[in-house]
Amino acid sequence: MSFITRRRELGRGERVVPGIWRLRLPLPWPGVPHCNAYAVAAGDGVVLFDCGLHEPGSLAQLERAMEQVGIALSDVRLLVCTHAHSDHYGQAAGVVEASGCELWMHPADAHMRASIEDPEARLEHSLEIARQSGVPLEALRAWSASARARGSGIARLVEPDRALVSGVVVATDLGPWTVLETPGHAPSHVCLHQPERRLLLSGDHLLGRISLYFDFGWTPDPIGEFLTSLDAVDALDARLCLSGHGRSFTDVRAHVEANRALVAARLERVRAAVAEHGPITAYDIVPLLYGEQLTQLTAGWWLPKLLCYLRHLAVTGAVVSSTEGKTERWTAA
Ligand SMILES: [Zn+2]
Ligand SMILES: [Zn+2]
Repeated sequence: MSFITRRRELGRGERVVPGIWRLRLPLPWPGVPHCNAYAVAAGDGVVLFDCGLHEPGSLAQLERAMEQVGIALSDVRLLVCTHAHSDHYGQAAGVVEASGCELWMHPADAHMRASIEDPEARLEHSLEIARQSGVPLEALRAWSASARARGSGIARLVEPDRALVSGVVVATDLGPWTVLETPGHAPSHVCLHQPERRLLLSGDHLLGRISLYFDFGWTPDPIGEFLTSLDAVDALDARLCLSGHGRSFTDVRAHVEANRALVAARLERVRAAVAEHGPITAYDIVPLLYGEQLTQLTAGWWLPKLLCYLRHLAVTGAVVSSTEGKTERWTAA
């Protein structure tokens, strides 16, 4: 008898610098094999920044990673989430229950609440946006089935004890970390900056391997917000960046620049596609931008991003949309 076992990573812990441990936690997502949580020494315990996705057995992976660096869930004195995506907030319930700690997170977390409080309505809304964007009906049916099977990745809703807005300070043995609101990737996104040591906990705002994602539909212009957030982080002049996925990196400014360049290149590609082929649906722009059509795997990732690019181009006056029947098409302004 033969069968294929999907090889999954195990939770792993390692020291980044004295007093900071990276907890590498497995993810079930194609192309994104893990996410990072960070434990930072604080008095007789640690502050935990982010906590990984919830799925069967996932809390044991976090415990395993912590055990490897000599700490336990009961040592967590405070949980700070950089944003309300499932891979950063999903296990908040388990961490808070095991440790009795507080949770601090930014209040613009409606994008997460919608999928927890009424998952069916949230899914319907996403499907409606996809349909408006020109996605064919057969594809929509298949996507809705796979989305239902996937679940939210969040154990349950935990109310934050404190609103993580700009200026809030998180005390650790390495000194105070100051919160900087950095919306764009998600409306609830914040970075944390330790100025004396020039450290930046960047969540998904800055990643070692440049990879963009933006939540669509919660704020007027996620790309514009992201670019403003890049400027704000650039001004901090951080030396070492601890990111939500992948290894930490030192050339922070170069990463900011690379993000700006990639956003500019994507915007130009979308603008050119609309100018050449408009009126055109978002669905038909996808292969012009990414070189292949949307699939079940890429739909939840590429479509919101593309809609954000279109929104930014509309806000800056480069394109306009018109809705005929129920389908939205884009043309050059
Ligand atoms: Zn994220
Ligand atoms: Zn993430």
